[in-house]
Amino acid sequence: MKKNDKSMDKYRILPGKPVDLKKLDPNDSSNFGGDKKEGKEELLKLNKKLEGLQELLYAEQKRKFLVVLQAMDTGGKDGVIRHVFEGVNPQGVRVASFKTPTAIELAHDYLWRIHQQAPARGEIVIFNRSHYEDVLVVRVHELVPREVWSRRYDQINAFEKQLTEEGTTILKFFLHIDKDEQKARLEARRDDPEKRWKFNVDDLKERKLWDEYVRAYEEAISRTSTEWAPWYVVPANKKWYRNLVVASAIIDKLEGLKMAFPEADFDPKKVKVD
Ligand code: ATP
Ligand code: MG
Repeated sequence: MKKNDKSMDKYRILPGKPVDLKKLDPNDSSNFGGDKKEGKEELLKLNKKLEGLQELLYAEQKRKFLVVLQAMDTGGKDGVIRHVFEGVNPQGVRVASFKTPTAIELAHDYLWRIHQQAPARGEIVIFNRSHYEDVLVVRVHELVPREVWSRRYDQINAFEKQLTEEGTTILKFFLHIDKDEQKARLEARRDDPEKRWKFNVDDLKERKLWDEYVRAYEEAISRTSTEWAPWYVVPANKKWYRNLVVASAIIDKLEGLKMAFPEADFDPKKVKVD
């Protein structure tokens, strides 16, 4: 990110560190020196960069890249998918959305449906919700006993480690809004005929459980931010800044992979195209 160009590492949660979301400001935009208009211009540049890196990942056919998005309702997962990945080649990028599990999914272990959607070589996959629901909504609504969900943090760490060892890079983003911002966004959805389709009355029930969700997120993030699959708590009240943080963190990671276009397995000088 330009204008100060500080690393997004300040939003990364170090392994084992306790997380207190109250202490992390959802209005922060301190890593970018400019305003909203400049932020949006900057995102266009990042879109171009990401497009190039994704092309490289696709051409290489070596590595797998997984982006996990989690947030409270209205937190902006859809907005991130739309704005951060604008312009990338749809052939190499896929979104997997995880809703209330079906009967078949429930008949399997909770990671079964997740593993099926993990990225293949050359692919970027974005998880819109994820296996983390199994320690979030499942915990808050007591859908399984505590002894069952409380084992899952270690299971998730082991699962993500296995994916990583097999060539997957994993980044996880919690889009952090506050309760007032959610109120404003829900009211906007209620009042704007073009946003109303997104309004879900059930979101109001979940909103009443805000504090329980905060506790569940804090524990999940703290216990599953690892060297191999870090969590970023992204200030997300300002949508333009949220997009910059996610885009920059993904770009930094992709650049760090030091990818290269594959060498030809023939001598181009000797191949004649008639
Ligand atoms: P989103 O709210 O993510 O933008 P949406 O509004 O299109 O998506 P919803 O019907 O709200 O769709 O689907 C997501 C719902 O599925 C959420 O309420 C979420 O908590 C629930 N869900 C996801 N995974 C699980 C799970 N493993 N167990 C129970 N509920 C789950
Ligand atoms: Mg919803």
